[in-house]
Amino acid sequence: MSELIDGKKVSQDTRAEIAEKVADLKEKTGVIPGLAAVLVGEDPASEIYVRNKRKACADCGMHSEEHKLSSETTEDELLSLVEKLNNDPKIHGILVQLPLPDHINETNILRAVTPLKDVDGFHPENVGRLVEGNPRFVSCTPAGIIKMLDYYNLEIKGKEAVIIGRSNIVGKPVSLLLLHRHATVTICHSRTRDLPEVARRADILVAAIGRAKFVTEDMVKDGAVVIDVGINRNEEGKLVGDVDFENVSKKASYITPVPGGVGPMTITMLLWNTLESAKMSAD
Ligand code: NAP
Repeated sequence: MSELIDGKKVSQDTRAEIAEKVADLKEKTGVIPGLAAVLVGEDPASEIYVRNKRKACADCGMHSEEHKLSSETTEDELLSLVEKLNNDPKIHGILVQLPLPDHINETNILRAVTPLKDVDGFHPENVGRLVEGNPRFVSCTPAGIIKMLDYYNLEIKGKEAVIIGRSNIVGKPVSLLLLHRHATVTICHSRTRDLPEVARRADILVAAIGRAKFVTEDMVKDGAVVIDVGINRNEEGKLVGDVDFENVSKKASYITPVPGGVGPMTITMLLWNTLESAKMSAD
């Protein structure tokens, strides 16, 4: 039976550390880290997410503001808001909640956010720095995964890491982070031949697919560390990951649950990046 990687606990401890650092920064420099969330249109899931961010910021002593715009907002209007936030000294992190309405070009908006406040790590400059091994802001979910592995002292160096999924927000950045920490990394996707065979090589297996119970026990080596990034609803409407938790947990040495695994770490790392940005601006 495997040991649980408790994302809530790691998140709680990390947020306590952030709160301490925020207080310290405020005392030494007068700077209070500030996060601006921009929400266009009415997506209930995004609204919950933004509300959670506001509460997390408040709990850590950080400033946060929300900019809720109607779904009729034009791309130019959104670009001018981003520009205003880029120049606002109270704001150190800008988060544009995705998805945006169809008439707005997401790439144009994400590139308009200054790389110095791009706490989601989506700007090509920050992606390039990550590729170089000299990251400024790393996208939050991948950064949270590394934080959890470190919290449990799980060795990365020299391990075989297999990542299922090659998205820009999870699969690719987490692969690079593991590579920079000296894992031997394989990335799988929908065209991978004999994926179970590749997955069975993994000492660290990361599932970022978006399909319930995709990773079954026959795809997992005994003693592997299994990180489940997926967020899916099963037939009963229950939140589940990409891993068949019940069976895989009998083989893995460590495993993240869903919910309560990777999920809580994402907002935590957003706060972490905003704090880092505020420290850079104070310097
Ligand atoms: P995505 O952009 O849809 O990417 C999914 C990846 O899975 C793609 O690379 C795709 O391959 C691969 N894939 C799909 N079907 C496959 C199959 N049958 N065999 C092998 N590979 C397959 O998704 P994402 O944004 O990375 O998110 C993945 C999951 O993580 C989703 O459930 C999402 O909700 C969740 N998520 C959670 C958090 C969190 O905070 N916990 C954050 C972000 C995302 P191709 O590239 O070949 O199409």
